[in-house]
Amino acid sequence: LENQLTEFEKNRSLASLSAGIAHEIRNPLTTARGFLQLFEQRCEPEDKEFVELTIRELDRIHTLLQDFMGMARPDDESLEFVDIRDVTYSVYQFLRPEASLCGVLLNYKVPSTCVYLSVQENRIKQVLINLLQNAVHACDKDGVVDIVLQEFADHVTITIRDNGCGISDMHHLFRPFQTTKSNGTGLGMFVSKHIIEAHRGHLQVDSTVGEGTTVTVYLPRS
Ligand code: ADP
Ligand code: MG
Repeated sequence: LENQLTEFEKNRSLASLSAGIAHEIRNPLTTARGFLQLFEQRCEPEDKEFVELTIRELDRIHTLLQDFMGMARPDDESLEFVDIRDVTYSVYQFLRPEASLCGVLLNYKVPSTCVYLSVQENRIKQVLINLLQNAVHACDKDGVVDIVLQEFADHVTITIRDNGCGISDMHHLFRPFQTTKSNGTGLGMFVSKHIIEAHRGHLQVDSTVGEGTTVTVYLPRS
């Protein structure tokens, strides 16, 4: 137990240090991006392309930090007692434009009565956004993504199911920086697992190449 405890402490201070650095990088990044945008309006036309490229690169750093900061400071954000249906609904609404842009049908199913849980709301939102984005991006045409909330005696599950390409390399799924996307960070699953485990829950992934993927988030009720 002692070993586990020190390991936990070590991870926690590492997470907190990384989060602090990520946060400090974000501010000057925002400033630099703002000035570049101004510069873009008055630079020589033949230079515009390079300014745009630089802005895109800065945006990449921003996404990386955003994905990474989710695992930061596990104890900083306090638990909130929320109807988890509201959380899933806001994430569903948030992802609808992106899904429709990709030609993916997004279905949403929740119980008809309140499902209260104590969670770090923004962190859980971040997990669900990443899982839904992964599902949408895995889909080809005729893509369908279901988000289903279910209630059990001692836990709640949120299932995200897609009929996309499936995951060929399950071994590397939770490893940081493992991505198959040109603009991916490979931090989404790593950070999501960390957040769900900090809630004393777990993630289950079932996938068949060519058929689709089901990710289930288990969250305990107390
Ligand atoms: P990113 O989305 O930035 O690539 P993630 O950690 O969220 O990083 O996902 C890592 C990789 O796992 C993705 O690049 C993709 O190859 C694979 N993956 C995750 N979810 C799915 C899914 N629902 N269907 C197919 N592949 C997936
Ligand atoms: Mg992702």
